[in-house]
Amino acid sequence: MAAAFGLVFAGFVAWLEVDQAALLSTAARLQMQALPYAIEQQRLARNLEVMRLEGERVLAGKTPQARQQALFIVSLMASHPSVLEQRDARALATEAERFLAAVARSGAPDADTLAEWKRLSQRLSLAADDITVDGVSLANREAEQMGEIVRQARYKLRSVLVLVLLFLGGLLLLIRRLLIRPLQQIDASLAGLKDGTAPPPPPGSALHEMQSVEAAIGQLRTVMHEHAQTRLALEQLASTDALTGLDNRRHFMQLAALEFERARRHERPVAVALADLDHFKQINDRYGHAAGDAALRAFADLVRATLRHADLACRYGGEEFAFVFPETTPAEALVLAERLRHALSVHSVELADGRRLQFSLSVGIADGDGLSLEEALSCADDALYRAKAVGRNRVVLGGEAGGGRVLPFRADD
Ligand code: GH3
Ligand code: MG
Ligand code: MG
Repeated sequence: MAAAFGLVFAGFVAWLEVDQAALLSTAARLQMQALPYAIEQQRLARNLEVMRLEGERVLAGKTPQARQQALFIVSLMASHPSVLEQRDARALATEAERFLAAVARSGAPDADTLAEWKRLSQRLSLAADDITVDGVSLANREAEQMGEIVRQARYKLRSVLVLVLLFLGGLLLLIRRLLIRPLQQIDASLAGLKDGTAPPPPPGSALHEMQSVEAAIGQLRTVMHEHAQTRLALEQLASTDALTGLDNRRHFMQLAALEFERARRHERPVAVALADLDHFKQINDRYGHAAGDAALRAFADLVRATLRHADLACRYGGEEFAFVFPETTPAEALVLAERLRHALSVHSVELADGRRLQFSLSVGIADGDGLSLEEALSCADDALYRAKAVGRNRVVLGGEAGGGRVLPFRADD
C-alpha cells in the first residue's frame, strides 16, 4: 500500500513540476516578450496620438512659424523608429505628414482640407487605440495562461492533499487493525491470565509477529491453567485427610483459629467438640484393619451428611475427630453432637464379607466463649474423658457451661 501511495504521490509531484515549468516559461515570456512589446506598442500609439495633436496645431496655427513648429514635431514623430518599424503605422504617419506639410505651406485651410484632416485625425486616433489594445492583449494572454496554470496547480494540490489524507486514514485504520486491537486483546488476556478468567486472545492480527505473541499467550494460559489445577490438587492433598476426605488436623486448626477470632471480634457464640469412636481397637482386632478403615470412612460420610454447612470437622488423629460450631451456643452444640451420636448408633457399616458392623461414639463439648481455641479443645477433651468414664456412647458438656458436672446426654437408642 505504501509503495502504491509512493508511486501515485511521485506522479502527482511530477505533474505539479510540469505546471511549475510551464508557469516559469510563461512568466519568462511575459517578462521578455509580452511586456516589452506592450511598452513598444504603447510608445507607438503615443507617437501617433502626439502626431494627431500636433496636426491639430498645424491646422489651427495662425502664423507660418507656429505651423512650421507643429509640423516639425509631426515630422519628428513620423520618423521615430517605433513608427518606421511598423508598416501600417509608417504609411499612415507618412500620409499624415505629407498632408500636414501641404497644409503648413498653403496657410489657412479650406473646408475640404478640414474635412480631409478630420478623416486623417480619426484614422490616427483609431490606429493608436488598436496598437494600444494589441500591445496589451499579448501580455494579457500570457497573464491569463499563467492564471490558468495556477488554477490547475491548485486543483492538483488539493487532489494531493485529499490523497495524503486518505492514505493517512487508511494507515491509521491498518495500524488499528493490525497492531492496536490485537495489542488490546493481548493486554486483556494478560490481565485475565492471573485468575484464568479471560479467554485466550482471538486471532486478531494478520501480522506474523502478533500471531506468535497470541499463540505464546495461549500456551502460557494452558500452562498456567495446568499449574493452577496442580496447585489446587496439592493444596487439597495438604489440607485433607487421605482416608476420610475430611480436613486434616493442621488445616482444621487454621480454620478454627479464624472462626474463634471472628467470634471474639463480633462477640458471637462458638462451640467446639472432640469425638472418639468407642472401643475402636476391638473393631480392628475383631474385624481387621481394613474394616476399621471402612468404619472410619463411613463415620466421615455420616459427619458430612449430618453437620451444617458452616460447621468445621476434621480427623484429629486416629479415631478421634474435632469440630467447631460457629454461631452456636453450648446447648445448641449438645443437640448437634447428639444428632451425630444418634445417627451413628442406628447406622451399620457393611463389610466386604457381608457382615454388618455397628459402633458408637463419645463426645465432649466445650463453650468457646472467652477461651482460646486450645483452651476450648482442652476443655472438650476433659468432657470427652468424662463421657468415656461414665460409660461411652454419650455426649458431655464440659467447663463452666456444664456446671462442672458430667452431663451424660443419653439417647433412647
Ligand atoms: P476407647 O473407647 O477408650 O477410645 O477405646 P479405643 O479402643 O477406641 O481406644 P484406643 O486408643 O485404645 O485404640 C484406638 C485404636 O484406633 C487403636 C488403633 O489401632 C486404631 N486406629 C487408629 N487409627 C486407625 C486407622 O487409621 N485405621 C484403623 N483401622 N485403625 C486405627
Ligand atoms: Mg476410641
Ligand atoms: Mg482414641
